[in-house]
Amino acid sequence: MRITEIKPYAVWVGNRNQMLVKVETDEGIYGWGEAGFSGRELAVKGVVEHYREFLMGRDPMRRGGLWQEMYRSQYFEGGRTLTAAISAIDLALYDIVGKKLGVPVYDLLGGRHRDEVPVFATTPGPYGPDMIEQAREFMESGITAFRLSYDGMDINRGGVFEPRESIANSAEWLIKARAELGNQAVIGVDYHHRLNVAETASFCQMMPSHTLDFLEEPIRDETPEAYEVLRGMTDVPFAIGEEFASKWQFLPYLERGITNYARVDVCNVGGFTESMKVAGWAEAHYIDLMPHNPLGPVCTAASVHLGAAVPNFAWLEINLARATNPDYEIFPQQVEFDGRVYRLPEAPGLGVDVDETKLSEPFAFWEPPHPTRRDGSHTNW
Ligand SMILES: [Mg+2]
Repeated sequence: MRITEIKPYAVWVGNRNQMLVKVETDEGIYGWGEAGFSGRELAVKGVVEHYREFLMGRDPMRRGGLWQEMYRSQYFEGGRTLTAAISAIDLALYDIVGKKLGVPVYDLLGGRHRDEVPVFATTPGPYGPDMIEQAREFMESGITAFRLSYDGMDINRGGVFEPRESIANSAEWLIKARAELGNQAVIGVDYHHRLNVAETASFCQMMPSHTLDFLEEPIRDETPEAYEVLRGMTDVPFAIGEEFASKWQFLPYLERGITNYARVDVCNVGGFTESMKVAGWAEAHYIDLMPHNPLGPVCTAASVHLGAAVPNFAWLEINLARATNPDYEIFPQQVEFDGRVYRLPEAPGLGVDVDETKLSEPFAFWEPPHPTRRDGSHTNW
């Protein structure tokens, strides 16, 4: 079997751009992958075009070696742009090999450990009484793990975000949420690396022990040593890693006990080839995966296969609005969410398909909000 075409699609789908990749073969078997690195899709598309130059005519069965070749083919190794492109191609190659051998991808990854993939949901509304009501509805539908809202102030409109005001308001409502939802609820919050070390420590100190089961990415991750200091200032478990672009980025967070959940993103870290290595490393440290899954149905399908094939798994992130209202026109085959968990697909490959003819909306430039502090200085979205 030989690769005969690699097509990158940086296209607008629904309410956002998606960076999809189709790999075709001389046997008529094709595979789909998706790249993360949202907001800079054209850069990833360019990398896929570079890789296409030497992947044409190659054997998809040799996907582990092809991963190494892609990663090491340029003098400037690694980084999020390159591994996002590698991720999409790697997922597509697994899709192809699964179809060729007639097995779901989880059977290529060592076989299924579970019969369904549990999820965690995120309350869609603002922080306050509504989010507690939404969390109660999650629990009634059988979803017991969720991220609650926090005070994001005017950040999503690119307005003002003041960390000290935000953490005071958020802590107050998280305490009320825990009191009302009880100890069966798994409660987390994602601060989207909008705090610094001291602000995060204060935030955690404002709440009684076991208000939160996990705090996701309170600070930026360039400096593991900063996170290590923070680790010593609070006992709240951390969930970190959605931006990590290789096992090497996960290394200090796992080996130094900084993170307690691995937020691996199969579309950023390097596809299945790299995710399975991170999973093994995390397993050795008794850390469960909590995969990041913010993209489209191809990412979701791949994440479900990963979740099925590892022993150390907590919950898969779910976008409930998309999962409960699937777009079958563009994605005629998708993994099934039954209202509580993802069912494991039985079809060969990833169990997801894309109607290329429906990818008709062109790429549209989109910028994340660029929020500021009150004094006009920049802060993170
Ligand atoms: Mg996050």
